[in-house]
Amino acid sequence: MTEEKALLQVKDLKVSFFTPAGEVKAVGGINYDLGYNEVMGIVGESGSGKSVEAYSIMGLLASPGKVMGGEILFEGDDVLKYDKKQMEDFRGNKVGMIFQNPMTCLNPVYTIGNQLMEAILCHKKISKEEAYKKAVSMLELVGISNPEKRMRQYPHELSGGMRQRVMIGMGLICEPKLLIADEPTTALDVTIQAQILELMKDIQEKTKMSIIFITHNLGVVAKICDRVSVMYAGKIVEQGTVDDIFYNPSHPYTMGLMRSMPRIDAEEHEALISIEGTPVDMLNPPEGCGFGTRCEYCMKLCLKAQPPVVDLGNGHFSKCWLLTLKEKGGETDGE
Ligand code: SF4
Repeated sequence: MTEEKALLQVKDLKVSFFTPAGEVKAVGGINYDLGYNEVMGIVGESGSGKSVEAYSIMGLLASPGKVMGGEILFEGDDVLKYDKKQMEDFRGNKVGMIFQNPMTCLNPVYTIGNQLMEAILCHKKISKEEAYKKAVSMLELVGISNPEKRMRQYPHELSGGMRQRVMIGMGLICEPKLLIADEPTTALDVTIQAQILELMKDIQEKTKMSIIFITHNLGVVAKICDRVSVMYAGKIVEQGTVDDIFYNPSHPYTMGLMRSMPRIDAEEHEALISIEGTPVDMLNPPEGCGFGTRCEYCMKLCLKAQPPVVDLGNGHFSKCWLLTLKEKGGETDGE
C-alpha cells in the first residue's frame, strides 16, 4: 500500500511494561499500514501483544505500560505526540473502540440512552434532542428492536448479544474513520457471534470505515478481514491478505495456527492439533526467533539472531530464517 493511501501507519512501535520482576517487552518494534475502507485482522495467542498495541493507538495504555519508541501516524499526524485535548478529540471523533466484555464497559447505573447520548454530546456540538434522535437511529442501525424502549433500560436488562450491539453502537456513534474491535465476539455464543460479525461487516460496507479486528480466532478473520497480521511474542511474524494466510502461509507459527483450526471434514473423534510448547517468557525474551523453542524447523541460526523480514510479493511479508536462506539459495540443514 502506498503511504498516501494509509489511514494509519504504525512504525517500529515498541511498548514495555515495567514490573517488579523486570521489563516486559510486550511489543517489540512492529510495522504495518492500514488503508481507508480496509479491515485488518490482528491474530495471535494471549500475551502476543495484539491488544497492547491497540491500547497504545488509543492512548489507553495504563501504568506500568509505556511506549518506548516508534510512531503511530493517523492521516500523517503522530498520535503519540498529541496533548490531552487532541487525544480526547481523536478518541471520540476519529477512532472508536469496542471491547470484549460489554458488562465491564457499560455503566450499570446509567440507562443505555444516557450513555449513548453522553458519548455524542462530549464530542459533537449538537442539541440534546438531536443527540437523542441520533442515539435511537444508532440502536436501529445495530439491529436493536424497539430502540426507544431500550434507551430507557439499564445494561442488566439487556441480553449479552444486545449489550454487545450497544457497544458497537457506542463505538460508531461519532462516525469514526477507524474502529478498533478487541475480541468483540469472544464472550458470546457462536450464534450471536455470527450475527454480530454479520452486523459489523454490513456496517463496514455501508460506512466504509477502516477496522482493526483483534482476535485469536482465525474463523472470525476469514469472515470479516481483508488483510491479516499474525503476532507472536510481541512481533508481527507474518502479514498478508486473508488468502495469503489461509492458502499460502509461510511462517511455521502461522502454519501451526492453521493446523490447529477445527475442520468440518474431521473424523468424529479426531483430536484437535495444538502447537506444542509454551509461549516465550517475555521477561527474558530469546536473542533469536521467539518461536524457536516451539518450531519443528528451528536451526542453530534461529536461536542466535532475529530473522529479517522477507518480502514474498504483493504485500505478503514473513519473518523466518528458512525463507531468508531460501531466497539466498542457501542450505537449511540445521546450521
Ligand atoms: Fe522456526 Fe527458525 Fe523460522 Fe523461527 S526463524 S520460525 S525458529 S525456522
